[in-house]
Amino acid sequence: MHSNQQLELYLKNCSFSLNDIRNRVDLEEDYTYFNHLYFDDALTPVDFITIHWNTLLGANAGMCIKNYKSTILELNPIYLNLYPEEYESILVHEMIHLITLEHDKKFLQEAKRISNLGLEITINCKHNLNLIMEK
Ligand SMILES: [Zn+2]
Repeated sequence: MHSNQQLELYLKNCSFSLNDIRNRVDLEEDYTYFNHLYFDDALTPVDFITIHWNTLLGANAGMCIKNYKSTILELNPIYLNLYPEEYESILVHEMIHLITLEHDKKFLQEAKRISNLGLEITINCKHNLNLIMEK
């Protein structure tokens, strides 16, 4: 039998993990949805890319890695658990990197096009995780 204290702790852990963004969103489903919504399905179908969480991204909210055989999108759950309201914008930012890896003219054009559709895309994370961690 659980003591009340154990039960309380159990419930606390449960609600914590339910709050974790990794348990609340489906990266592949959202990728497919945003590909449709913002890119007219022009980006690589989700079956041909890898998309996952990475706790080791440091101050970066997300990252796009492309090599000759694979494309990987990574999102930082530490950052996004602090600022879950930026999830859509950060995922779509990384998705623009499938068109161009740099924050170049093409990237800015895409960011502006998508901002006009109602989703603000920023070049840099709004929050600097390094500064927050040093506090
Ligand atoms: Zn970027």
